[in-house]
Order: sequence, then C-alpha cells, then structure tokens
Amino acid sequence: MRSAAIIGAGITGLTAAFYLKRKGVPVTVYEASDRVGGAIESIRTEGYLAEFGPNTILETSPKVTQLVCDAGLAPRRLDPDPRAEARYVVRYQRPIEMPGSPLGFFTTKLFSAKAKLAVLREPFVRPRRDGKEESIAEFVVRRLGQEFLDHAIDALVAGVYAGDPYKLSVPQAFPKLAQLEARYGSLIKGQIFGARDRKRRGEVAKDRAPKFSFDQGLQVLPDTLREQLGEAVRLNTAVTRLTQTPDGWTLDLRARGQQTRAEHSAVIYAGTAFKLAELEVQAAAPLHLNTFAEIRYPPVASVVLGFRREDVAHACEGFGMLIPKVEGFKILGAIFSSSLFPNRAPAGHLTLTSYVGGERNPDLASLPPEKLFALTCEDLRVLLGVKGKPTFQHSIFYPRAIPQYNVGYGRFRELMSDIEQKAQGLFFAGHYRDGISLSDTIVSGCNVADRVGEYLAAAPAGQREVGVPA
Ligand SMILES: Cc1cc2nc3c(=O)[nH]c(=O)nc-3n(C[C@H](O)[C@H](O)[C@H](O)COP(=O)(O)OP(=O)(O)OC[C@H]3O[C@@H](n4cnc5c(N)ncnc54)[C@H](O)[C@@H]3O)c2cc1C
Repeated sequence: MRSAAIIGAGITGLTAAFYLKRKGVPVTVYEASDRVGGAIESIRTEGYLAEFGPNTILETSPKVTQLVCDAGLAPRRLDPDPRAEARYVVRYQRPIEMPGSPLGFFTTKLFSAKAKLAVLREPFVRPRRDGKEESIAEFVVRRLGQEFLDHAIDALVAGVYAGDPYKLSVPQAFPKLAQLEARYGSLIKGQIFGARDRKRRGEVAKDRAPKFSFDQGLQVLPDTLREQLGEAVRLNTAVTRLTQTPDGWTLDLRARGQQTRAEHSAVIYAGTAFKLAELEVQAAAPLHLNTFAEIRYPPVASVVLGFRREDVAHACEGFGMLIPKVEGFKILGAIFSSSLFPNRAPAGHLTLTSYVGGERNPDLASLPPEKLFALTCEDLRVLLGVKGKPTFQHSIFYPRAIPQYNVGYGRFRELMSDIEQKAQGLFFAGHYRDGISLSDTIVSGCNVADRVGEYLAAAPAGQREVGVPA
C-alpha cells in the first residue's frame, strides 16, 4: 500500500492530508505538539472569543472556498459585518481612515500634497529592467516616494509580516507587485488592466478578497479537518529523522518519550523552516537541510484585551489600525475584533487584538504578560481613548512567528526544489515556501496533495506502512 506521511498538523498539513485521503491514499499526520492548527489559535473563555494567530482567511482562490465546502463548513462560515470595511492608519498620533476611492485619496489627511503627486506620477516612472532584487522599501521609494513608504507601506508590512521593509524582498514577499511592474510597467496601470487577467484565472487580489472566519473562530477549520481524518492524526509525535529507503522513507518518531519508526512511500514536510533545519536526514544525496536555519522568524506577542464599550472613546468600527514605525508606538497595530465578527465579546464590551514585537521591536515580544498588557493599554489610551482596566486580558508569545521572505530568499526556495528532485518522494509545502497567508497555505496544501497523488500513482507498488519499534 503506497502511503504518505505528513509532518505537521498546521493548516497546510491538514489540508494536504484531507485531500490525499479523498484520493484514496492512506495518510498519517505527525504533529509534535498536543493540538492541531499550528499558528491558528482561537480560545473561548469568559464570554470572549479570542484569536491569537490569524484572525481571518482571505478568499483569494477558489481552492479556499472549495475546502470550506468539502469540509462541510459552509454553514459555519462567518462573514464580517459589512460596516467593518474601514481600515485605519495612524498619522499625527491618531488613526485616520484609509481612503476607499480615488476621490478619497486626494482629500485624505493621511498624505501630503507632495505624496499625492508622487502617486499621480507613478504610471510614468520607468520600470526597473536590470533584474536587481529590490527590498520593498527600495521599490516603494523608487515608484511612490519616501512618504508613502514611511506612512503607509511600513505599517502594512508590519501588519502582514511583522517585518522590516528594508529587508523584505519584492519578488519573494510581494510577487504580485513585482509582476505588475514587469507586465504593465506600473502599479496603477496594473491595478486597472490586471483585474481582467485575475478574473480569467479565478483569482481575487488580496486587497479586494472577501475575508471570513467561522462561528467559533478559525480553529474550527483545523479541528474539523482533524475530526474527518480521525486516527490518521497523531498528536505529541515529533518526527526526528528521515531515512531514504528503496521503497520510500523511514521516519523516526518521538512520541511521549517513546522512540518508534514508520515507513511511508512519500513524505510531505509541512512544519516550520527552523524545525526542518533540525531534522536528521539520511538520503542517497546530501540534502543540506541545516541551511533552513538561516530563515528568520521574528518573535511576536498577540495581546487580546476586552474593555467596557463606554471605556473606549473611538468607535472602533472597521477592520483595525496599522501603525507606521515613525509614529513611535510600541504595538505594531490592532484589530477591532468584535467589530469584525459579532460573537467576540460579551454584550456592552469590545475586543481589541494587538501585536507586539516583530522585526521592529523584537525584544518587547518576550516581555511578561503584565508588562505587555500595560504597554498595549498605554498605546491604546493615546490612539483610541481607552480608559479603565481591561475586563479581559490574555496574551500568547510566538517565539518564532512568521518567516521573513527577505532579499535572497529565492535561494531557499531553489534548494527546496533541488531537494525534491534529488530525494524522490520528499515534498515541501506551507508558509515557508508558498506564501505566509492562510489562503496561500491552503492552496499550498491542495497543490502538494495533487503532486503527491500523482507521484504515488506513478511509483511502483509493493510499499508498506508499518509502525515498528526502533
Ligand atoms: C501571530 C500571527 C498572526 C497571523 N495573522 C494572519 C492573518 O491574519 N491572516 C493570515 O492569512 N495569516 C496570518 N498568519 C500566518 C498564518 O497563520 C500561517 O502562515 C499559517 O497558519 C501557517 O500554517 P502552516 O500549516 O504552514 O504552518 P504552522 O501553522 O506553523 O504548522 C506547522 C506545524 O508543524 C509542526 N511541526 C514542525 N516540525 C515538526 C516535526 N518535526 N514533527 C512533527 N510536527 C512538526 C508544528 O508543531 C506545527 O503545529 C499569522 C501568523 C501568526 C504567527
């Protein structure tokens, strides 16, 4: 029986396992921790529903919609309140609503007249053709000017990657931007003319894609996939070593202090890059997995605070606020969680989810919870007029949160493709390879299931899956 092992029960691994099982492939998912979901973490307590990792899924691909349907979750899908469209960016120490139309752009107080003129000039800035890999900061300054970087893109980059715009690579971290410039010569022209191409491919741009969650938070998705996979998911089971055999791969497993082994025809690595670097491996050719230790994951703390409605001066209606570094706050931004979805806070209360750390302030993320609550409350006091003590406070520390697709990241991706060529039956998928958003990781899980399905269908029969003591 040709079977597949999936290392990691985050959303990538569970999606891959779910679709392989539907193709009739026997699968086993090995997860080192005692829970499924990886970075996804929703907690319901004291009348609050708190999300610590991702807050929403962006419906950028039909594969995302399909997974929700195939998992039987369409009735539990929760779309955000349509009034929660507004997004704020902090300038002059207060949140200013981002313009939603060209007219709004020319009247907004977010940018000076000079910055607005720079945007008007953008279609006439010559595209770069020398092949140099630029950081997002270099790219934005060249096309739109320094003010646009400092007061908009810097905040966006902190909100998405918790990253440093002077390090993140345009082609690696923002491939769509690089493609717009390469194909249309301009971001603005690309926005206008690219819409037709995206429609043909069935894709939706990230800034326009509908976002959603589930009635009990995002954790519903991994929990449901796990239920449907049943015994195939093995929690508290770390894969420590891979050995290539004539029939496939032997996995050394560590489960509650016990060492065991399992054999599979194919292996999908859907864990994190830093854990990949720690895997011992014995294969026909050297694989150099330790190189992946160089991928940087900055620390982030998620701080979820509840307040009485009357203790917050700002209406907090909208998605949330992004904060550029030049404004000098400690938090990277905040999501107006209870404005987005109805069941996040008890009646008369609201929930704000703030992020601390990232490349901007890595040392702050590991502060003890009491200090995190205090610094977050202080920033929220200045920005949103929060007073009084929180009625709910909870934080989670992600020591290594999000991989930074910095300039030069392409060499890691090339190495992954190279290893897949050399080490037949070993596949890589997930946030460290195919994009960091939940929608990217779902698509990555779907695609790797197809690749492994084809590989197993083409591979010779006679392979076995057995758990044997080491
Ligand atoms: C704080 C935070 C906020 C975010 N916000 C958003 C957001 O709003 N929207 C969005 O789209 N995305 C967001 N993301 C990104 C998104 O959540 C992640 O990129 C995505 O969940 C990663 O999924 P994954 O399955 O690839 O990896 P992970 O979720 O990291 O799962 C990998 C799993 O593999 C396991 N593992 C690793 N090595 C081994 C091993 N050797 N043996 C067994 N198991 C192993 C780990 O224990 C883990 O459970 C956020 C991420 C963070 C951290």
